Amino acid sequence: MRWVLATGNTGKLKEMRAVLAALPVELVAQSELGIGSVEETGLTFVENALIKARHAAAASGLPALADDSGLIVPALGGAPGLITAHYAGIHGDSAANIAKLLAEMRDLHPDQRRACFYSVIVLLRSPDDPEPLIAEGRWQGSILMSPRGNGGFGYDPIFLDPATGLSAAELPATDKNQRSHRGLALARLQALLMERSPDHEPA
Ligand code: IMP
Repeated sequence: MRWVLATGNTGKLKEMRAVLAALPVELVAQSELGIGSVEETGLTFVENALIKARHAAAASGLPALADDSGLIVPALGGAPGLITAHYAGIHGDSAANIAKLLAEMRDLHPDQRRACFYSVIVLLRSPDDPEPLIAEGRWQGSILMSPRGNGGFGYDPIFLDPATGLSAAELPATDKNQRSHRGLALARLQALLMERSPDHEPA
């Protein structure tokens, strides 16, 4: 079985492939099939994930998996939120995004540096699948005063995982995948797939 992954973000691709390696599914990135990105016009993360999955399923004829994610800082009214990827203006410019967020948070009290990474992952069997699988994950932490670590991608160097005291960029990839919003959403998706499987007997 082949599924198309509706993302061009190499950091996300790597994480999703690692976590889903146990599934009997070949994951193909939409870019590998020559499929471009679609405009994310939704007002919520889940709408954007569905838009991306529907686009990839329609263009490929394959079941499609899409993730939409972002960073939420309650003290900034939920920013960067839906525009996390282009907070500083240019899509995917992580250095600029981090610099802008640190500047916006410079004068905040330490108690106000709480933040949450959010991910929603959807699986559509076809573009008109009326029953998408929808799985969410949240990773609670806080924003550091300056970047730490070289791993991961995006905002990882300024996101502190309170349980380990490490930034997301300092965590080994396998640890990040176990703790992260995306890792938790993927685990939930696997549970939903099991529930949908015709062989699955409810307890
Ligand atoms: P989108 O889901 O492609 O719209 O983009 C979400 C953006 O959130 C990414 O481009 C990253 O900047 C950020 N992001 C999402 N997940 C992570 C993560 O695990 N680590 C760091 N940044 C992330």
